[in-house]
Amino acid sequence: MEVTRLAPSPTGALHLGNARTFLINWLMARQAGWKIILRIEDLDGPRIKPHADQQAMQDLRWLGIDWDEGPIYQSKRTDRYAAAVKELLDQKLAYPCICTRREAALAASAPHAEDGAAVYPGTCRGKYNSIEAARSASGREPAIRLAMPQAPLEFTDQFCGQQRWNNSQQQLGDFVIAKSDGTAAYQLAVVVDDAEMGITQIVRGEDLLDSTPRQMIVYHALNMADRIPHYFHLPLVVGTDGRRLAKRHGDTRLSHYRESGISARRIRGLLARWSGVPCDSDISIEQLLKQFDLARLPHDRMIMSADDEAWLNNG
Ligand code: GLU
Repeated sequence: MEVTRLAPSPTGALHLGNARTFLINWLMARQAGWKIILRIEDLDGPRIKPHADQQAMQDLRWLGIDWDEGPIYQSKRTDRYAAAVKELLDQKLAYPCICTRREAALAASAPHAEDGAAVYPGTCRGKYNSIEAARSASGREPAIRLAMPQAPLEFTDQFCGQQRWNNSQQQLGDFVIAKSDGTAAYQLAVVVDDAEMGITQIVRGEDLLDSTPRQMIVYHALNMADRIPHYFHLPLVVGTDGRRLAKRHGDTRLSHYRESGISARRIRGLLARWSGVPCDSDISIEQLLKQFDLARLPHDRMIMSADDEAWLNNG
């Protein structure tokens, strides 16, 4: 059985950009008969907003999106992540790192990842035999990094096509799998969860495209390469300045539109048009389910224009 997940982070509200990705994921799942699990990715302590999980679920339901299982909260699964980190440390596939964020950034050389995150050059790799050794050498609580192999890494994205990293160590760097406060990092938690939940299809924004080789390495390191899912990375919605939809482009949160009296049918009409469905009016979820066709989803980034905003308001 094919299984997918909707994985909102309760760090902010759903806006038109991520709502479109969730909607497409849901449409693909319901058209193909995949099971849908809702997973709340609430590990990023300081950035989590109170009640944003409830808000995300309310926004999803309002749009017409449902799920078969969950919500499952990552914050309730920390023992599993800790076990995986321990396994990787025991196998020497991961190592303690005492660099501060600033030190890691300073040590980084080009190239930089697209998201602006520095590629860590492996300063602490092979230096400390244990967490205790790293702690007593530095007086700091270490983070844990995965030792990236030097090998090239390839995969075929089901939407973007063939992807290749010639030297994963140089291009992607040794990335953090557990932070110094002990919290599991996104790259680790997502693999542990996807594997255990039997996720076979991942649909998400293309901003996560370069997380995929990292996550594939984690599957390999945990001896779960046979569970690597199919990936579909979808182009993002950007503002007229070409930057990812965000506050600077005005308030595009679903809750904002809902409170202004704009209907979910109207929002879906815009999201449908942004998803390759020929539609210039409001649309029901049933109609959208009939009409959506992944083959017609544009491969270019979608630009939200002032006309789009006006169209929503003139419903
Ligand atoms: N929680 C992540 C986000 O909201 C999605 C992670 C994923 O799909 O792998 O960006």
